[in-house]
Amino acid sequence: MGFAGKRFSQEERRSPRPQVSAIRCRIEDETMSIYQQLGVQPIINACGTVTRLGGAPMPAEVLDAFAQAAVESVPLEHLQAAASRRIAEVTGADAGLVTCGAAGALTLGTSAILTGHNLARIEKLPCCDGFPHELIIAREQRSGYDHAVRAAGANLVEVGFNEIVSNAGVRRTEVWEYEAAITSQTVGIVYVHAHDSCPNLQEVVAMAHEHDLPVLVDAAGELPPRSNLKDIPATGADLVCFSGGKAIHGPQSTGILCGRGGLISSAALQMLDMDDHLDLWDPPENLIDRSQLTGIPRHGIGRGLKVSKEEIVALLTALDLFASGEFDSQLLEYRRMLSTVADSLSGAKVNCRMLEPLTQDCWPVLEITVDCSALGVSAMDVCRALRTGTPPVYVGHAGLHEGRLQINPVCLQEAALPSLTRRLMDELS
Ligand SMILES: *Cc1c(COP(=O)(O)O)cnc(C)c1O
Repeated sequence: MGFAGKRFSQEERRSPRPQVSAIRCRIEDETMSIYQQLGVQPIINACGTVTRLGGAPMPAEVLDAFAQAAVESVPLEHLQAAASRRIAEVTGADAGLVTCGAAGALTLGTSAILTGHNLARIEKLPCCDGFPHELIIAREQRSGYDHAVRAAGANLVEVGFNEIVSNAGVRRTEVWEYEAAITSQTVGIVYVHAHDSCPNLQEVVAMAHEHDLPVLVDAAGELPPRSNLKDIPATGADLVCFSGGKAIHGPQSTGILCGRGGLISSAALQMLDMDDHLDLWDPPENLIDRSQLTGIPRHGIGRGLKVSKEEIVALLTALDLFASGEFDSQLLEYRRMLSTVADSLSGAKVNCRMLEPLTQDCWPVLEITVDCSALGVSAMDVCRALRTGTPPVYVGHAGLHEGRLQINPVCLQEAALPSLTRRLMDELS
């Protein structure tokens, strides 16, 4: 069999509801998976919804929605306008856009802040010569993701310290430091949300709004708790980015940008394909504010960040499931799988501990502390051996330097548990 996965008959292929084959774990299976046919070895993902490993598994409903969406054509701006209404309901924001990951949302959100509906500026990005383009960010919140902000043409101005991490004091970034950095070149503030971000978002938003500056929030991985879908926009933050391919279980390549209508309108303009005549162009009012425009822009900086109709529909389906608490039924299974792994390691040279979640709608993570001196290898060595064995196992690797591995259950499949426990025992006893 060639590279095709499950074959549909001609009739099935044309039917408005192609069947999506059930998702099964094939690691123990005799048949070749679609990846094996390409010569790519599937892995056991005990690491969570990370992008490097393909993100979250999509539920059957989401895959079915994707397949149904592929059958017909629709104007993308109408579909994004419908998405905007759904996202607004779920987040409490004015409007929303399905983006190409949270990273794409950061680029588009920044673009909207930089240009508004100014056609000359939209045309120029990422060149910002001649107009203000500085965004303020706490030094301690910088990461590789701020490339997504700089990609729009913005310059980042750093403020504050985390003196606790540097072991040189007791304080972190403070609101006055953002305020003191505001100049005529400042167009907004970028804020990376974590449950313990400092200073808190509400205070930063209040200060920014006193200066008429918008706040763009990276909340990519801040779900669950699902209350954050509403709580973060409710701080008054002007734009908020969520990842669609993490806990929402949408397509890995999707994200959500939600916030103030005018900014979402500008972001949509800079992402959507603009190849139309001004006289024919009739964008939905709830998405694009035509009254702000003196003409029709050409393709914007976000044209390369396109999202397909199938991805939009699949993301909206996943968002509905996530927001309505449908995924909570998996929490008990996650916990049971982690207990099985912990029990199976009772004879190994490790210490297992369940890291309990901060909120009820989140899952625990199993932390395995390796007794490196008894084993004669480091946690890094164990992690490497797990990845290179058969089947390859990827575990959470944020605590390796303290000798800790983590097992995150979100992408684990029940059928992979025997292989996972065998591989862990191989490397840890
Ligand atoms: C995952 C993540 C992103 C990127 O999200 P994508 O949806 O993969 O683009 C950005 N910022 C933070 C803090 C993240 O954790």
